[in-house]
Amino acid sequence: MPTRPCGGPAPGRPCPTRQLVTARPGAKQPACCPACGTARQRAKDARRPERRTYGEQQRRRAAVAEHIARCGYVCPGCPPYGNHPHHADPVANPLTAEHLVPVGAGGSEDGPLSVLCRRGNSAKGART
Ligand SMILES: [Zn+2]
Ligand SMILES: [Zn+2]
Repeated sequence: MPTRPCGGPAPGRPCPTRQLVTARPGAKQPACCPACGTARQRAKDARRPERRTYGEQQRRRAAVAEHIARCGYVCPGCPPYGNHPHHADPVANPLTAEHLVPVGAGGSEDGPLSVLCRRGNSAKGART
């Protein structure tokens, strides 16, 4: 594998350690050392604050698991189903946890979650 200088934490910014890294042929961006990779990821997260972090995904998964343990695989009621409780389908219409108050509507990223089926949650409109 050929090596080349680290591509740096951002375009036009040199790598502080100037490490030689292995260049992957066909890679989308220049190869970089682990420190620069972390810096790039952080910059990406900052540009897209609504992006779900790993921790947030885990929190949603836990909320869904807890709901299933408590209520079974049942959506508590959503507009497409006349707000009546109904069975959800793990494949066609799975249960999802979304923010009670969408982040786009002023809710906080770590605010309370509500569990609804996917159709119900997407019917609520605003990206949550
Ligand atoms: Zn680097
Ligand atoms: Zn539903």
